[in-house]
Amino acid sequence: MKAFTGKHTCENCGETFDARLLHDIEDLEKRISPGEIVPSGQCPDCGTVCHIAKDKEAIDAMHVAIRDMDFAEQEDNFTI
Ligand SMILES: [Zn+2]
Repeated sequence: MKAFTGKHTCENCGETFDARLLHDIEDLEKRISPGEIVPSGQCPDCGTVCHIAKDKEAIDAMHVAIRDMDFAEQEDNFTI
């Protein structure tokens, strides 16, 4: 699955890579959650999943969404 082109940004180290530099994702089904954008590849530096590069505002909005998701999970734990 090397159909992707363009630039891709690592979720962890924030580096941007050309599509051809990305590695195939190991255990893809274990590393994504339902509803999550499917990553385009794996970072050749740190092994974290990468997504197609967006402008900075879009990336910031995504990080806020992830943070809100974490809070939701913690609240669920309190209601047991
Ligand atoms: Zn990385």
